[in-house]
This record gives sequence, structure tokens and C-alpha cells, in this order.
Amino acid sequence: MHLQIGLDDTDSTNGGCTTYIAARLVERLVEVDAHFIDYPNIIRLNPNIPYKTRGNAAVALRLEIPNAMYDSVVQIVLSEIEREGRIGDENADPAAVFLKGDPTQSVRELARRALSELVPLTDAINIIVESRAESASYGTGIGLVGALAAIGHTLDQDHTFELVAYRKRENCGSQRRVDEESVKRMNNSTRPYTFNNYDERNRRVLITPHGPDPVLLGIRGETAEIVREAFAMLSISEPVERWVVFRTNHATDAHLDAARGNGVKVNAPVVVNGEVDDRPERTVGGHVFFPIHTTQGRFTCAAYEPTGRLRDIIMQLIPGDQVAVYGGIPGRYGLTVNLEKLEILSLANLASTQNPLCPRCGKRLKSAGREKGFKCSRCSLVAREQERTRILKTRKLTPGVYLPELKAYRHLTKPLSRYNHERIWDGKPPLEKWHSP
Ligand SMILES: [Zn+2]
Repeated sequence: MHLQIGLDDTDSTNGGCTTYIAARLVERLVEVDAHFIDYPNIIRLNPNIPYKTRGNAAVALRLEIPNAMYDSVVQIVLSEIEREGRIGDENADPAAVFLKGDPTQSVRELARRALSELVPLTDAINIIVESRAESASYGTGIGLVGALAAIGHTLDQDHTFELVAYRKRENCGSQRRVDEESVKRMNNSTRPYTFNNYDERNRRVLITPHGPDPVLLGIRGETAEIVREAFAMLSISEPVERWVVFRTNHATDAHLDAARGNGVKVNAPVVVNGEVDDRPERTVGGHVFFPIHTTQGRFTCAAYEPTGRLRDIIMQLIPGDQVAVYGGIPGRYGLTVNLEKLEILSLANLASTQNPLCPRCGKRLKSAGREKGFKCSRCSLVAREQERTRILKTRKLTPGVYLPELKAYRHLTKPLSRYNHERIWDGKPPLEKWHSP
């Protein structure tokens, strides 16, 4: 039988990690001869919901097992959650869902909603009951939403891969010992098939996180092979406890695709077309704000300081410019759209006026005072009937898609290098080596 296992919310602020549990489970399940029909999936859900501490990641494991193995697989999963799941920590509400067979239409629909909405726990529970799935949850139980959504999000369309390597427990909390030069070399020889490795502009390694969690590094790319090759190029001077290749919706804009047509709502991703209403303003902290009007109403768009050069693009917008804004409304500041991407659709004419030239000597005329026309400072001509002339200025901006700097990317942000290279999943199980040992 097919068995789908969803896991969520084993993270807490104290450094748990849902993917780490998944990595341990991969090894334990392979050991008992459970057959993986897909790479383990990391599914990022709606990044704008208020009760998440980090990236809102859930995991799905998809297995083919003999019917008789079901109970022992459930036991293995629950024992790992109890061992590693930070049960009892604030903000950690770990949950697991076990669904026999393949995801039903209602599970898939819940998954789509969980990318772009705040899904109530009762909706998830109803679908778990209706699909005869089994579940286990701790704390508030809210983890059931993500666990079920991970099962339903089968990544049939665009997807990417991430190789995640983990540290030994005794090293967690210390600086990660991954050689920066080797990251640059790996980046240069594998991009654009890998991405978000290194921020050239700010000279920052991006594959290593900074928290106390067990993740040593994560390499993102287009195929399982390329992330494995890239991993082999790194010089790492601390022991790697284990590693796994995940298939994910990272770098696919999945949340924005799911939000299309949903309108403008709090705690949701937003995709909306509009017209710039007023000149953008830059605050003391370096944040940039501008108002737009849309068929949904008038909103403020915000590009915060970490978005970097995107703010310089925005500062050149003028009233009348047509834009598509992509982002989210975390809800802390009312209906302010936190920009993740800006598409300039068309530019308004930027016009200014200037005094006419003297019809007698050709010098530019001066104003003779309010309502008094112009006079020439060279030949003293007085020209009462002349009018200021309107001139069009050229705009430096060009229509197109603009993203923030790398350091402001969300997990789901699709880098420009992936545009028009989206891929469809072939549905084949992982064949070669995709996890340690
Ligand atoms: Zn003159």
C-alpha cells in the first residue's frame, strides 16, 4: 500500500527542526525496508501567518509498504517525534498525519488553501476524519494543518531540490565550519542549476543558517544530482552527522500562484495589479512606502530596508505607473503589502514645463511675474502672450520584474534565473544515492 506521512511544527524557538526528524526517519524507515516513492518533500506554507516562528515548513514522506508494516511505521514516526519534537516548548505543536493510499481531492484542496490562507484547525480535522487518516498531535494541535497540507501538496508541477546536511548535537549553537572560498567555487561552477548559495554583493554565505538548530547547510538546485555534486565540492571542517536530498516548493513562488485572484487579505500572500497614486517616500530607517489604487481598494506597499536596491527602483515610480505587486500582508500594520516582488507593467509620462525661448534673440525668457507673461533679459522683449512649454522627460526605469536582494528572499521566492525554467515532476522514485550513510 501507499502511505503518506505528514509532519509539521516540530520547530520551536529553542532549535528543533522538522526536517531533522524527517532525515532521521528516512534512515530508520529505509532500514526496515520501507520503499520511498518520492524524495521526502519539504513544503513551505503561507509565510504570512502570525503564529509561526520561522519558515512555516512541513514535511511529507511518501512510502510503499506491505500492509502488515503499517503499525510499525507509525510507531517509528511517533517515537522520533517524542524523541526530537520539542514537545512542551512554547510555539512547538508537533503533529503527524498518516494517510493510506494517495491524497484525495479534499486533501489537495486544503493544501492549496494552506499556501495562501489561514486555515482553521477544524477544517483539517474534518478532512482527516473524512479521509480515514490517522493523526497524532501535541500542544494546541495546530500542527495538523501543516502536516495534512504537506501530504496534499504533491509537487506535480514546479519544484526544486535541497540537500540538507546536519550537525552533530554537540556542535549545535557554535559557528558553522564551512569554508567560504569553497562555497564561492561551488557557486561559480554549478549556478544557475543551484541558486542562493552566495550573496556576491554583500559577501555573505547563504547556504548556512545562523540559529542553534541542527542544520549545517542547505544547497538548493534544479535536480537531485546537482545538489549532491555541489555538496561534494565543499570544504567542511566539522563532522556531518547525516544528509538528505529533499524535493520542495522552495524558489517556486507557489504561495503567490496560490494567491492569484484571492484579493487582498490580512495574513495572506497578495498578487494585485494597480496604479501608483503618489511619489514613494523613504523613511529615516531606510524603508520605502508608496500608495497604489486597485480594483480592490487603495493600499500602501512597503519595501523594507533589507530589500536593498529594490528600493532604488521603487523611488523612481511616479503617479500613473501601472504595476503588479507581489507580497504579503502580515497584518501588523493594517493593509500594508510587504513587497516580495514588483512588476512594472507600464510607465506614465514624466513631464515638466519650462519657459519659452525669446522669439527675437533666442535666449530663454524669464517670468515677468505672476500673470505678467515673460521678458527677455538680453534684448528686453516683453512677451505677454507666450506660454510655458511642456517637455517629456525620459524615464530611467524599464518595465519588467524586480526582486529584492538575496538576503531578503523568502524560502518561496523564485529567483530570476528560474523564470521560464519551471519543471514538471516525472513521478519516478529516487534511484541513486539521496541520503546518508
Ligand atoms: Zn531676447
